[in-house]
Amino acid sequence: MRIVVLAGGIGGARFLRGLKQAAPDADITVIGNTGDDIHLFGLKVCPDLDTVMYTLGDGINEEQGWGRADETFHLKEELAAYGVGPEWFGLGDRDFATHIVRTQMIGAGFPLSAVTEALCDRWKPGVRLIPMTDDRVETHVAVEVDGERKAIHFQEYWVRLRASVPAEAVVPVGAEQAKPAPGVLEAIAEADVVLFPPSNPVVSVGTILAVPGIREAIADAGVPVVGLSPIVGDAPVRGMADKVLAAVGVESTAAAVAEHYGSGLLDGWLVDTVDAGAVERTEAAGIRCRAVPLMMTDLDAAAQMAREALALAEEVRTA
Ligand code: GDP
Ligand code: CA
Repeated sequence: MRIVVLAGGIGGARFLRGLKQAAPDADITVIGNTGDDIHLFGLKVCPDLDTVMYTLGDGINEEQGWGRADETFHLKEELAAYGVGPEWFGLGDRDFATHIVRTQMIGAGFPLSAVTEALCDRWKPGVRLIPMTDDRVETHVAVEVDGERKAIHFQEYWVRLRASVPAEAVVPVGAEQAKPAPGVLEAIAEADVVLFPPSNPVVSVGTILAVPGIREAIADAGVPVVGLSPIVGDAPVRGMADKVLAAVGVESTAAAVAEHYGSGLLDGWLVDTVDAGAVERTEAAGIRCRAVPLMMTDLDAAAQMAREALALAEEVRTA
């Protein structure tokens, strides 16, 4: 079975680990979000691609959900001693090596998709990881600070400000001109099922869908498209997805997120058992919906979620 997954960082990566356990023989292609990418200290950092790669390659800092296990921060301390920041973005010594290799390869003329493949040669994530695009896309967030409206980089909003001010708009700058990376549209066209993990619907899955051609390819693929809600009990399980949902006018409920994707794209939707009340509303919107446990407390729980998603895909396929 060929499975395509559109993934952000933590939610996507943990789900993928479960999917690999649930479907060990499947051929899994992950289309990764690159809207969170940022240049720091002259290096290109791809937080979501790295979270997927480290998580599936057993190099992740498990508690944090991002960055490397067994990490030290000497390089950052040395930079800070020179007064060189930003100090708000966590980059450890081991992690720095990834960004140095990536930046060097990009400087030598390799596209991000080829660089990601090379990095994955080391990590062996057991999936094919492709960035959504080789072109530069950067998610910016419009905020009002001291009475002045300005657009800031997504990482500044998320990591430095911790989404403490309202997001007035979320814009994937560059997405309109971006082309899907080589292999993205082909993987979608050849897929037996497309899954949206419980990743952020706006700044992860939404950004991937903003690359022209990707949404259309999924809608036209004629295969089941099933998603899992990142919103449980009317709040994000981790992080501040409610802030960016508000910016696009979507309430923080499992049903509203399903409606935001819409029945033109989504065939099936899983909500947590605490949101069983959302099933009826979601089905009324033309999306098959089931309530099952959606907390990825451990690998087995994530694997069970993946099994439920694949079962729902079969259900809508034969419907
Ligand atoms: P990011 O790029 O690191 O923010 O990661 P993603 O976009 O892939 O995922 C973030 C989303 O994952 C958040 O909106 C969380 O609510 C969601 N999430 C994290 N852990 C869980 C979980 O155990 N269950 C569910 N249903 N959602 C989760
Ligand atoms: Ca992210």
